[in-house]
Amino acid sequence: MHASPTAVPMDRIDVFWHDGMLNHDAGRGVFDTGSDPGFLDVLEKHPENADRVKNMLSILKRGPISPYISWHVGRPALIPELLSFHTQEYINELIEADRNGGKMLSCGTFLNPGSWDATLLAAGTTLSAMKHILDGHGKIAYALVRPPGHHAQPTQADGYCFLNNAGLAVQMALGYGYEKVVVIDIDVHYGNGTAEGFYKSNNVLTISLHMNHGSWGPSHPQSGSVDEVGEGDGFGYNMNIPLPNGTGDRGYVYAMTDLVVPAVQKFEPDMIVLVVGQDSSAFDPNGRQCLTMEGYREIGRIVHSLTTKQSIGRLLIVQEGGYHVTYSAYCLHAMLEGVLNLPLPLLSDPIAYYPEDESFAVKVIEAIKRHHKDKLPFLRGA
Ligand SMILES: [Zn+2]
Repeated sequence: MHASPTAVPMDRIDVFWHDGMLNHDAGRGVFDTGSDPGFLDVLEKHPENADRVKNMLSILKRGPISPYISWHVGRPALIPELLSFHTQEYINELIEADRNGGKMLSCGTFLNPGSWDATLLAAGTTLSAMKHILDGHGKIAYALVRPPGHHAQPTQADGYCFLNNAGLAVQMALGYGYEKVVVIDIDVHYGNGTAEGFYKSNNVLTISLHMNHGSWGPSHPQSGSVDEVGEGDGFGYNMNIPLPNGTGDRGYVYAMTDLVVPAVQKFEPDMIVLVVGQDSSAFDPNGRQCLTMEGYREIGRIVHSLTTKQSIGRLLIVQEGGYHVTYSAYCLHAMLEGVLNLPLPLLSDPIAYYPEDESFAVKVIEAIKRHHKDKLPFLRGA
């Protein structure tokens, strides 16, 4: 499905960035383990490395989308700001780990010398981007940040994430008096940290489209299944959309159109937060979904249309995963083209090939839709 032809192109995206985020180095090893088995001559960089984000930065600076980008410098978060989402005990643990020269906080999640300052910059830069929208200086802001945040829970680190950048930004919007915020997370992994932070809240609808990977240990006890729907006041306001491996462009667009759009329309948010990972791409070493640039572009268009209708154009985009050093940058470019609602693609896909058969994904999505309509009270009658 395409966005309404009457929708007008947006004129710019305000991008928030700070060079200091490059100083987080998660090391080398066998993929993300940090370990050297002794029999490999070439140990690769941890997938969450600075190179991936350097390419995202440069493609927005020198790619064909560059005339639509306005640049802003981020800032470090202050410790008291972190307490809107995280516990004091957990923050103390991070400060202590930094003081002691580093620590593996969970599987694959390394806080090394330099990491804590980069982490504070990622959180603060996301807050700067949100504040820019809240103060009325722009409609669409993109926080190009690392380390990522959506697995970071109030009390623990997980999946390369220390602080929940998007969650902190949502809390800021609530603090400004916004009553309904929706988070749409298209990173290939379940946004468990963000879900956990707002699990008992009906002010924040958390929606996550992800690979059906389940729990991956004590740092990630959540399953990401359709049955995790929130608790207390938040009952029904956590919407999980676990998609089969290899879902692809058409399957994702179907899920967005059939599940996400009606839910957001029913919820009527005054702010939309798009949490984006390019690890849902066909070439990512960390994901088993098969989006191409065209899929990201189409998701961007759908989100553009939603923001125009639902949140008077207010949209915060927060960077999460995406580990193919080249293709992540290309997919980011394509998605932002969609968010700008540009009539024609600015950049062609250099590598996409994926003979998608969406029939299985469509069946799964229809089953999820029936489940949600049954289990999420706010969706009844949608
Ligand atoms: Zn991810």
